[in-house]
Amino acid sequence: MTSLTRADWERRAQALEIEGRAYIQGEYTAAASGATFECISPVDGRLLGQVASCDGADADRAVAAARAAFEAGVWSRLAPVKRKQIMIRFAELIDAHCEELALLETLDMGKPISDSLGIDVPAASRAIRWSGEAIDKIYDEVAATPHDELGLVTREPVGVVAAIVPWNFPLLMSCWKLGPALATGNSVILKPSEKSPLTAIRLAQLASEAGIPAGVFNVLPGYGHTVGKALALHMDVDTLVFTGSTRVAKQLMVYAGESNMKRVWLEAGGKSPNIVFADAPDLKAAAAAAASAIAFNQGEVCTAGSRLLVEKSIKDEFLPLVVEALKAWKPGHPLDPATNVGALVDSQQLNTVLGYIEAGHADGARLLLGGKRTLEETGGVYVEPTLFDGVTNAMRIAREEIFGPVLSVIEFETEEEAIRIANDTIYGLAAAVWTRDLSRAHRTARALRAGSVWVNQYDGGDMTAPFGGFKQSGNGRDKSLHAFDKYTEIKATWIKL
Ligand code: NAD
Repeated sequence: MTSLTRADWERRAQALEIEGRAYIQGEYTAAASGATFECISPVDGRLLGQVASCDGADADRAVAAARAAFEAGVWSRLAPVKRKQIMIRFAELIDAHCEELALLETLDMGKPISDSLGIDVPAASRAIRWSGEAIDKIYDEVAATPHDELGLVTREPVGVVAAIVPWNFPLLMSCWKLGPALATGNSVILKPSEKSPLTAIRLAQLASEAGIPAGVFNVLPGYGHTVGKALALHMDVDTLVFTGSTRVAKQLMVYAGESNMKRVWLEAGGKSPNIVFADAPDLKAAAAAAASAIAFNQGEVCTAGSRLLVEKSIKDEFLPLVVEALKAWKPGHPLDPATNVGALVDSQQLNTVLGYIEAGHADGARLLLGGKRTLEETGGVYVEPTLFDGVTNAMRIAREEIFGPVLSVIEFETEEEAIRIANDTIYGLAAAVWTRDLSRAHRTARALRAGSVWVNQYDGGDMTAPFGGFKQSGNGRDKSLHAFDKYTEIKATWIKL
């Protein structure tokens, strides 16, 4: 951890030179049209710089560079052990630039500097390092052939990968894609969100410095409906990997169908249930986890535990603990190392969150905490962590992904009812269960339709565990060796001996 103070971070922020250009074929370049957009910090409304607004012409340039590099074999045919060494060097460079990347991330999307520095950047470098380290330890297969034949089952890189990522963990989501995509030998075009392009742009240069050849890793900042759409419709992109909303995820499947049937892998939204049974081993710990599950990263987390299902018999005892725990999450200046709740990403997101708080009131939920915009005098966009009781699963705040720190408490009486409510959602990203009964823990974990289930904790996991969703939370998995499936094609070679 750092000993830097808010004043130190402010000084560094003033001195920052923002690079806002696209990165194609190993160099920074303006958008072909010359267009730019303003990059505004949600911390205090300051203008950070101009960023290239790429479009279809830039997508064509980047795809051509990526394809040429792939065909040349400068990366795709490099021995896995060599790719491993370069990936590890790339991870080391991310670590070496930890403070700079953390500052860019915080200024760009508003999360607390302690989180950027302590969580996002280290997890990003770990994703690159883990994937790199794995790649020379994976073996292909020999089929169970007759003695006069040889059947080889091998994995090959898919070719050109377009990765479209969101703004809530800009660097980390990029690296969850980049790690396995690069390790397996593909060329990549990364499109960061227009709301948080800066760390992706910086990352490209670190990748080059590490030795990733020109054309293998390109970055195209710009809007979804321009450059994002152009990549998704591109006839020479082999695979599209995405993290973002379910609405856009569905659109990407249409684009793939309308173009070249590129493979589409989606990590989308969530509305995760956090179920606290009366026999939870430690109600205080459960309350602390429930608060952090909704307040961490301003609630802008796909796995946010936004539905807190509480067994009726303990509700009166448990809810005051949740209120207390949530009070410890206080919006503050993101560059202050003591801050644990930063700014929302922009005023549009603020309006979305405030709109849902209004909907909670209108539908008859009872406000227990928060509910308002705060720190308006800073020029930034902040909202109080908010708690509603008396929520039913039919209310909008229980059905729709808010992507802000708004927690809904829903009461239940039996295990069956808890499971039914938990699964009554279009999403299936994550869920948690608190119980000291081992059988109930396993039974409910099996019954929950979600890609990740936590027992007596919230949000556990690391690079060794796959991450992704059931239902409309997506398909495929990030992290772990399962992520490599997205970036490889399986080939059967059948040889007559
Ligand atoms: P978003 O869907 O609005 O945007 C995501 C990306 O898609 C951005 O880069 C955007 O520019 C691009 N995009 C938008 N329209 C497009 C189009 N028509 N064609 C191509 N690209 C387009 O999502 P967001 O608001 O940036 O992020 C929040 C969402 O991300 C939430 O729903 C959250 O649950 C989800 N998310 C999911 C995971 C996960 O792993 N499942 C992780 C983080 C965030």
